[in-house]
Amino acid sequence: MGGSSRRGSSSSSRRGSDLRYNMSISLEEAYKGKSTTITVPSSVKCEQCSGTGGKDGTQPSSCPTCGGMGKVRAQQGFFTVERTCPTCSGKGQMNKNPCRFCSGSGTTQKNKNLSVNIPAGVETGTRIRLTGEGEAGSQNGPAGDLYIFTEVLNHAIFQREGANLFCQIPISMVSATLGGDIEAPTLDGGKTRVKVPAGIQSGKQLRLRGKGMPNIRGSSYGDLYIELNIETPVNLNENQKDLLREFEKSLQETANNPKYSNFFSKVKSFWEKNSN
Ligand SMILES: [Zn+2]
Ligand SMILES: [Zn+2]
Repeated sequence: MGGSSRRGSSSSSRRGSDLRYNMSISLEEAYKGKSTTITVPSSVKCEQCSGTGGKDGTQPSSCPTCGGMGKVRAQQGFFTVERTCPTCSGKGQMNKNPCRFCSGSGTTQKNKNLSVNIPAGVETGTRIRLTGEGEAGSQNGPAGDLYIFTEVLNHAIFQREGANLFCQIPISMVSATLGGDIEAPTLDGGKTRVKVPAGIQSGKQLRLRGKGMPNIRGSSYGDLYIELNIETPVNLNENQKDLLREFEKSLQETANNPKYSNFFSKVKSFWEKNSN
């Protein structure tokens, strides 16, 4: 007889497929985490036939071709070949009067809303599994899972590398020379005061501990690196240019521009060595 059960499910029961849902989120949302609702297509029990697949609630009967097995055997030479039953497409059951609403399948497509919690710290490619929220199984088979794949979008101010954040901040030539405090943005929407040492060089990074991204497992945070870009002033008027020329005259090369004098003393000996 067909319909013999193993672990409580019928022989033709089938697990539903896993579904993939792609979600784009901003870097701020990845920082804070996000609760949202997503709409996913799902198959639900047909309301017209209460899932029986039969017209006016008629119950399905065992398929006469395969006797409810869902498979038929055929002799091919010396071999017995097992094939999916062509009459019932492997279901083992069929309706003489199929429900017109669901074409006898017993299920219809309907969108369902799911609340989803995206944990803080997700990255592009993070996979969040919602067990049992995938496609419904057939013949009492278990439902598949739903996987949310997150894509974290680029940010206008911050770049991310793993748990660390980077922010490039332009600084005037004078501020870089004299030093002082600047206000740096933080990803939580706030700001933090950063001390810039006098004489800081272009490309120097200042590390702010714990101001980076949260770790998805645990409570630790990465760091925020402030990289200072010294801005060469542009569009100067004659008066400003004169002030700079006057200033330049006051400079003592070795003391005030050690990098410059060090480099050109090496270049000088390089030229001398290669002059003959
Ligand atoms: Zn059949
Ligand atoms: Zn139906």
